[in-house]
Amino acid sequence: MKIVITEIPEEGLELDLKSDIQSDAVKIVSPVKAVLRLDKMLPEVMAKGVLNGDVEHQCSRCLKNFTERIASQFNVVYRPTTEIARGEQHQLKSDELDTVFYSGDTLEIDDLLREQLILNLPMKPLCSPDCKGFCPQCGADMSLSACGCKASETDSRFEVLKKLKKEKE
Ligand SMILES: [Zn+2]
Ligand SMILES: [Zn+2]
Repeated sequence: MKIVITEIPEEGLELDLKSDIQSDAVKIVSPVKAVLRLDKMLPEVMAKGVLNGDVEHQCSRCLKNFTERIASQFNVVYRPTTEIARGEQHQLKSDELDTVFYSGDTLEIDDLLREQLILNLPMKPLCSPDCKGFCPQCGADMSLSACGCKASETDSRFEVLKKLKKEKE
């Protein structure tokens, strides 16, 4: 979605949108939904809002692909690329807001949503917080079923006990 800055009213613009966004960084499997507000403080435009979208990625423990909802709150300032061209870098660190750039008179809202979604991806995706991953001994997926490695250990110990008991008798 593109927003022409001159079309943003003085009192600001509220957007409730759904956008099909693709990314090289992650597979986005649902339209990204966002509610945001744009306020002009020319040449800057403040963008504040929330978004969510479903991504498919790989569990860092069991390597299964799974879908996860990524939600994010953002508060960014759009600055014209001409500011960099003029070397006004001092402005770029003047506040704590994240900065995104626009060129010409158009805001690329999809770029903003994509960037915010990527920023909120977990470093180590987990299919579930208690994913058990693989058994270090046999490589079985421990979340699906216990592979028996530990169990057989217990069993053999149990066998030994039984044996001892028998020997005593
Ligand atoms: Zn997993
Ligand atoms: Zn095992």
